[in-house]
Amino acid sequence: MKLNLNIQPLHTWIKTGKEPLVIAGPCSAETEDQLVATAHLLAQTGRISALRAGIWKPRTRPGEFEGIGSIGLEWLKRAKAETGLPTAVEVATAKHVEEALKAGVDILWVGARSTVNPFTVQEIADALRGVDIPVMVKNPVNPDLSLWIGALERINNAGITKLAAIHRGFSSYEKSAFRNEPMWDIAIALKTLAPELPLINDPSHISGNRDLIGYISQKALDLDMQGLMIESHIDPSVAWTDAKQQVTPAALADIIDHLALRKPETRDAAVNDKLAELRQQIDKIDDLLIQKIAERMQIADKIGNYKKDNNITILQVGRWDEIVQKRTNYAKALKLGTEFTEKLLELLHSESISRQTAIMNQNEAGQAAEKLTHV
Ligand code: PEP
Ligand code: MN
Repeated sequence: MKLNLNIQPLHTWIKTGKEPLVIAGPCSAETEDQLVATAHLLAQTGRISALRAGIWKPRTRPGEFEGIGSIGLEWLKRAKAETGLPTAVEVATAKHVEEALKAGVDILWVGARSTVNPFTVQEIADALRGVDIPVMVKNPVNPDLSLWIGALERINNAGITKLAAIHRGFSSYEKSAFRNEPMWDIAIALKTLAPELPLINDPSHISGNRDLIGYISQKALDLDMQGLMIESHIDPSVAWTDAKQQVTPAALADIIDHLALRKPETRDAAVNDKLAELRQQIDKIDDLLIQKIAERMQIADKIGNYKKDNNITILQVGRWDEIVQKRTNYAKALKLGTEFTEKLLELLHSESISRQTAIMNQNEAGQAAEKLTHV
């Protein structure tokens, strides 16, 4: 089912002519010089559509730099006046919204630590009622698509139609190269549910490390995301927040220059014909896969009945280990990744187990129900 959002296209509220759309600026506004000088260098690259800066910083631990506060809004005003770049700031309370609007900020965004809390999001939404301003909603810190959708709906219900989502990755216990796991499938799920909702990627907060920004940006564009939000600082080595992930304006221009822009569609008939042919092959294979999985489940059901008749437990760990071992070896030989194969087997196995559990308990539950009706 599609989401029922009332959305205006991206180009109605931000310059999208330059491709890809890039919103850039420091993680935090630190000093007037730092912000204004960064803004000038960014504007000179000619590749930036808006200037971002954190004025109020939601920090995980107290005692860290919590943002320069309202004075930063004056610096943003100056940066805008001198460069012509529209400005974007994060808001987390009704008061932030009020001050940002008063200072003429052009775009607001809701941060990942706010999206997790419906009370906070509602407070922001209420403060926005009757105001015509673009709002971007970052995904929540935790991998929960509903929270992200809920925040977008709350802001949209307040009458904000210039709306976009920002994909900045998710907290995860699993150690990886990224600061926040991209979990691309969650962003893709949102895009599928709301195809008209602009989706902007934030490679800086996903990467946590400037070396990965190009790689993540390319992947986001290849997934047909409409833009990028990238942190840029005149001298990242001395940045007060997120120093490791910020890039100089020159490095940012270089990253953008190296991005390949691929189109979601083409008018080239030969290319479309070839694609259609390959897609037909995929469709056929998918049908076969589904058919084979259904056959596998029928056999699993038979085994379930047999185990029940012979009083054997559903799970035999030895057998399962053997399956995983043999299949992953085979899959590896066919150039399938081990992690993928394990996930696939896990999914098949858990479905088999739940069907067998239902079979095991079916008759007992039926008999119990029958006994009750006979009383
Ligand atoms: C930020 O954009 O600087 C920020 C605090 O990001 P997030 O809300 O994604 O952590
Ligand atoms: Mn940051």
